[in-house]
Amino acid sequence: MSEETTKNMVLKGVGASMGIDIGKAYLLEQEHTTHLIEERQLPPEEIEAEVNRFKDAVSKARQHLRQYIEDVSDDYQDHVYILDTYMMLLKDKMLYDGTIEQIQKHRINAEHALKNTVEKVKGNFKKMPDPYFRDRASDIVHASNLIFEQLLGTKPTKISDIDKRVIIVARDLSPAETTQIQLERVKGFITDLGSHTSHTGIIARSLGIPAVLGLKDATRRLETGDLIIVDGNAGLVIINPDEETIAQYYDRKERFETFQAQVTRASEGPAVTTDGHRLEIQANISMLEEVVSALDHGGEGIGLYRTEFLYLNRPDLPSEQDLFENYRDLAEIMRGRQITIRTLDLGGDKFASSIQWSEEINPALGLRAIRFCLQSPDIFKTQLRAILRASAFGNIRIMFPMVSRVEEVIEAKRILEETAETLDKEGVLFKKDVPVGVMIEVPSAVFMADILAEKVDFLSIGTNDLIQYSFAIDRINKQVASLYQPLHPVVLKMIDLVVKAAKAHGIEAALCGEMGADPINLPVLLGLELDTISMHPISIPGIKHVVRQLSFEDTRRFAREMLTQHTASQVRQLVLDTYGDFLEMAAFFQSNGQAQLPAYRPAV
Ligand code: PEP
Ligand code: MG
Repeated sequence: MSEETTKNMVLKGVGASMGIDIGKAYLLEQEHTTHLIEERQLPPEEIEAEVNRFKDAVSKARQHLRQYIEDVSDDYQDHVYILDTYMMLLKDKMLYDGTIEQIQKHRINAEHALKNTVEKVKGNFKKMPDPYFRDRASDIVHASNLIFEQLLGTKPTKISDIDKRVIIVARDLSPAETTQIQLERVKGFITDLGSHTSHTGIIARSLGIPAVLGLKDATRRLETGDLIIVDGNAGLVIINPDEETIAQYYDRKERFETFQAQVTRASEGPAVTTDGHRLEIQANISMLEEVVSALDHGGEGIGLYRTEFLYLNRPDLPSEQDLFENYRDLAEIMRGRQITIRTLDLGGDKFASSIQWSEEINPALGLRAIRFCLQSPDIFKTQLRAILRASAFGNIRIMFPMVSRVEEVIEAKRILEETAETLDKEGVLFKKDVPVGVMIEVPSAVFMADILAEKVDFLSIGTNDLIQYSFAIDRINKQVASLYQPLHPVVLKMIDLVVKAAKAHGIEAALCGEMGADPINLPVLLGLELDTISMHPISIPGIKHVVRQLSFEDTRRFAREMLTQHTASQVRQLVLDTYGDFLEMAAFFQSNGQAQLPAYRPAV
């Protein structure tokens, strides 16, 4: 790259890990041969051997990965579970069984069958409306690359050989490759592919090294030895900076590092107010793969596992064994931390193609969630059996969604008991006292929260739906989005009623709607005395940071005052007047690539 012509050239990407550094680029040599794979037709007598060649490659890839896990240095011990999820991905039904089926059905070579399968699975992920799910496509690619290495005999990239303080420039980095980075040698990294929620970004974030991903053609524009600035806050890379820019960036780097030290402290450990009150902060997830992010961002448990995903995008229903393995894996990764598995919330705007749905004029008011499950006891029982079996492996509890009448809870618990008895007779191992809770998402449930509280072990308020059903605002209709106001005094009054009912019965009051993820709502939610708030994982550090600035006693008084207001904008203004200073810090944190819109359910 010529010095004269390209001073201060800026490349824009995604800031996947905050931080700023200045250093020499190191272009990583990576073998990319999968695009050269050609289809070979096989005679019938060779099919079995080809399937075995594929199985052998997967088992070698797993051995290889196991070796990575064993060799992981102390810096990465906290991330071993990311590699554990890759172990699972290598045996993932879609990838593993899908490739074998391709070999057998189309009588083709394993490499091509794997390539086709990866494309198909990637395509399914890419169609997801939620960006987090779309990004899981890169996990499939990284896992399949480990198998390609075995099938094609290509060599893995050697990051551990780097012996200078550099900024790595690569086309893409898998989590396995990322865990080879030696922190004392690498100042940061930038890649052509990848995004904010890729696991590579997640690892970089917790290691505290800046990373900019998705730069498209950085590897083409840069050579080893070029001086670059990586600005993970703004998602920028500056090539060949002049003296003035370098000086400015050294100053920014220093200011940012002082601020970051404070926020990082807030994401680890419990969220305790200035006067010693603890608020439990948990994560909401919809896929097993997200558990990595949940833990990485300081989630103390899973407050809501949306289980629908396993039923969507497939022609048949998942088997009890499929579900059991998924829940057990989750339990094992969480190692004793609490996991709240919500039973199926199908219907509304989520329809599994394996189930015959009748046309509904108002699906949000129709056969959805617990109503659907009670009318389809076989599907319900299969899921309950899987959850109960998984309960032997961790700290699992069950939650029923969209309860609108107490009879539903009684009936759901009866089916659960019946299921437990059957398992018992079969001699299957499970925990006998799995806690059961209900979601409060419908106004009728709010007004009989005291009755529901007698029947269950916890209540969890789903404000996404509660607001929809209380104000008659379709949560996915953009035209009425401005009417969707979590800080409306009516919402606050409903939360207050539910918390009081839970407290009167000595049970936990949680909130798992996405309003918990926005720092502006936090002073009131804390003051309303919720025990637990759960949210999209990446919002956790910012929220914990704010909790630590607040006094519980002050927010209790403040929340009482908010209950007497008339409009959401009054409440909002009072929050800003009273707590604006603390929230500004959180907003700064969230705007650095961390901001998150409410994670609405994928419309299928
Ligand atoms: C809710 O309704 O607030 C909730 C958490 O559930 P979901 O978003 O999955 O409907
Ligand atoms: Mg809901």
